[in-house]
Amino acid sequence: MQSFSVSVNDNDSFMCSSSDRVFDDVIGVKVCPVCHYRTNFDFVNQNFTIKRKIYDLSATYDGYYIASLKFKETIDREGIAGITFVAISREPEYFAMFVSNMVSFDTEKRKSKAEKYCSACGNYESFVGATPAFLRESPSFDLSRTDVAFGSGNAKHPLLIASECFVSLVKREKLKGLYFEQTRT
Ligand SMILES: [Zn+2]
Repeated sequence: MQSFSVSVNDNDSFMCSSSDRVFDDVIGVKVCPVCHYRTNFDFVNQNFTIKRKIYDLSATYDGYYIASLKFKETIDREGIAGITFVAISREPEYFAMFVSNMVSFDTEKRKSKAEKYCSACGNYESFVGATPAFLRESPSFDLSRTDVAFGSGNAKHPLLIASECFVSLVKREKLKGLYFEQTRT
């Protein structure tokens, strides 16, 4: 089965941090005492507001996937498993999206480069080289995330991997802001 990496546009917004610093007025973010980067990647800031609202799926500058109500309703209706949508108080039409289905990314074949491993939190400062995506296995879910988070600092986030079926669904429902590129093995 073919699978595809998913790229999205940024929504010109930050959830809780810039790439090198967690915002002072956000309560509840865990920060590594050694490298000072965020460690609880599923933290959702309830005061978050989204600046650019034209996409059904987009990303914040600090690496969160944000889904529209239409995107969430499509996923719910189709019964696609392994995806969690977290409500945001100040944005009732948008949700922070977390994918638990995991697929193993082949960093060797892709020649991805990891820099500055932090032994305190177990994260790298940066991981570069996500696309074209090389996978070690064929994903068994319609939407998965890679086991590696790409990007740097607080902006690190996993790459999303979609099945052919998911790509057709996005096209059929005319969901905006998702771009697909075939993965390799
Ligand atoms: Zn650390």
